[in-house]
Amino acid sequence: MSAPTFLLTNDDGAHAKGLLALRDAMATRGRVVVVAPDRELSGVGHGITLNRPLRIREDGPDFYVVDGTPTDCVNLGILKILGALPKAVIAGINRGANLGDDVTYSGTVAGAMEGALLGVPSMAVSLESRGHVADADRVSFGDAAGVALRVLDLLSDHALPARTLVNVNVPARKPLGRLRVTRQGRRSYEGGIVEKVDPRGTAYYWIGGTPVWADDDGADQTAVARGDVSITPLMLDLTHHGHLAEIARVLDREG
Ligand code: MN
Repeated sequence: MSAPTFLLTNDDGAHAKGLLALRDAMATRGRVVVVAPDRELSGVGHGITLNRPLRIREDGPDFYVVDGTPTDCVNLGILKILGALPKAVIAGINRGANLGDDVTYSGTVAGAMEGALLGVPSMAVSLESRGHVADADRVSFGDAAGVALRVLDLLSDHALPARTLVNVNVPARKPLGRLRVTRQGRRSYEGGIVEKVDPRGTAYYWIGGTPVWADDDGADQTAVARGDVSITPLMLDLTHHGHLAEIARVLDREG
């Protein structure tokens, strides 16, 4: 059997360190095809480009750069560049964690979502921001790529259910703890809008603030805060199944 093909993308741009470290690690497992955005697009979520044409630039062997989103990249990668389903789609390694409610903003997670929608086992990998960690204690992108390989090897024999992806988050500080399966956690931002005034006297805004995490045992952010690697299976069905009956009851009463 010929070596399997893996499709890689990210949302930090095609030449981001995290993606290149992941590519080098994955090369030990088969053919690695990179299809990634030509610029940083963190926060772009599951956006798809429908109002203008997309261009693909070949920047090296099996290395393609697209002027579009991670979702565009996975579509073009599978349906045009490969013309076949890869063994897996892997998005990352993102610079910064993608935890809790933030996964819906993440272009990295969305790249894996798109892989799952196209019927391919998919994984998003993120490395917690390391700014607060001394150089000697920092987990490198190479270390995180090693973790990604371990997770991929462990899960490859246990196919994920259809339309499911795994969201892997690696803590910033060494030594790395154990691999833990987690739930998607909850987060709110305190003081979410920063208002400033430009030199012409007009107000402008930054969305941001300090994230406040719910203290939630078993959640993704709790695992990463404790130094463990968080592995969360995510699905694309956003239906609140527990609430279907309640709404049905109200509608029935209306007759
Ligand atoms: Mn990013």
